[in-house]
Amino acid sequence: MTRIASSHGEGFAPETTRRLQRAVTRWFARAGRRLPWRERYDPYEVWVAEIMLQQTQVETVLPYYRRWMARFRDVQAVASAPEEAVLKVWEGLGYYARARNLQRSARLIVERHGGRVPDSVPALRALPGIGRYTAGAIVSIGHNRPAPAVDGNIGRVLGRLVALDVPVRAPGGQARLWRLAEALVPAVDPRGFNQGLMELGALVCRPASPLCPLCPLRETCAAFASGDPQRFPPAAQRRARPTRCGAMVLLRNDAGCLLLRKRPPRGTWGGLWEPPWIERRAGESSRAAARRLLHELGISPAVRSLRSLGTLHHGLTHFQLSLECYAGQVKHPFPEVAAGGLPSEKCWADNARLAALPLGRLGRKALELRRREPTGETAERDGG
Ligand code: SF4
Repeated sequence: MTRIASSHGEGFAPETTRRLQRAVTRWFARAGRRLPWRERYDPYEVWVAEIMLQQTQVETVLPYYRRWMARFRDVQAVASAPEEAVLKVWEGLGYYARARNLQRSARLIVERHGGRVPDSVPALRALPGIGRYTAGAIVSIGHNRPAPAVDGNIGRVLGRLVALDVPVRAPGGQARLWRLAEALVPAVDPRGFNQGLMELGALVCRPASPLCPLCPLRETCAAFASGDPQRFPPAAQRRARPTRCGAMVLLRNDAGCLLLRKRPPRGTWGGLWEPPWIERRAGESSRAAARRLLHELGISPAVRSLRSLGTLHHGLTHFQLSLECYAGQVKHPFPEVAAGGLPSEKCWADNARLAALPLGRLGRKALELRRREPTGETAERDGG
């Protein structure tokens, strides 16, 4: 194998580059999985799939992708839908900023590009939620135009190909991988090449135990030649996630409706509905935090007792959440749902509304805890 500095400072000799390109695209044509967004290579479908696949496995994405396409057939359909309808279809997939950004981008694509997904990296990167990788993926896969794309899978394959000795996410590692990806992407069939690299990373060049004997790149691969391929690229040190503790209240009124609160439009779970919860202050007990929450909601006098349902744990990207959940009964209706059909920031949800509103994973887990609650007699009672 001959590796040389290209005009971009990274790459292989032209003959090696052509051999790699052929090996990847032929392997992909033979072994690539048949997936719904690979049937027509419609740029809109590729864009939606790429956003859904961010930090999410293909198997998890498939039912969501089908549901999305059944509901939003094109950019225009996403742009004109109410945000709550978009979040409802996304419900359970997590990282809801992705759904909100998809809709914001769809509206901009209608406004600026006549409803057609752009075919250039700069135009795509000007849209919310589309970074360097996603733009490269849409251009190369959706439009079949040459553009580099480096995600986790491609980064690992390329990193092993050159025995990268710094973590993929380290600044030096990223710069080198992008230069390499740019030098390798072919003018002919960039779609097959980039997807082939992604697929190799997912199916063959696996993080823990790469299947090198099945790999079409092994003759060129420096990590394979080293005899210990999974040592490359080195893993980044993981920082421990802190745990944040709090209390959640699941309150039903006399009509059996559950009190839900809508989260602010931006940030984690933005725009989704959930039972109210609050973070504990230093030295505060969970029950005291729950009582403070009732006070803030303005319903403290109407809730005579709180039953403990148990602890809910939920992992987020930067921290763990640990919430003590309490069930309670509210004696008078509060607050009323705004007239005119749209729920106010808080609402009492009967079962039909619960099914219709977009709830995050946290809310769904809490409802499950409530459903599994033992009979009231065995539950702990709060004297206050
Ligand atoms: Fe990965 Fe092994 Fe293929 Fe190298 S030969 S790219 S380490 S699967």
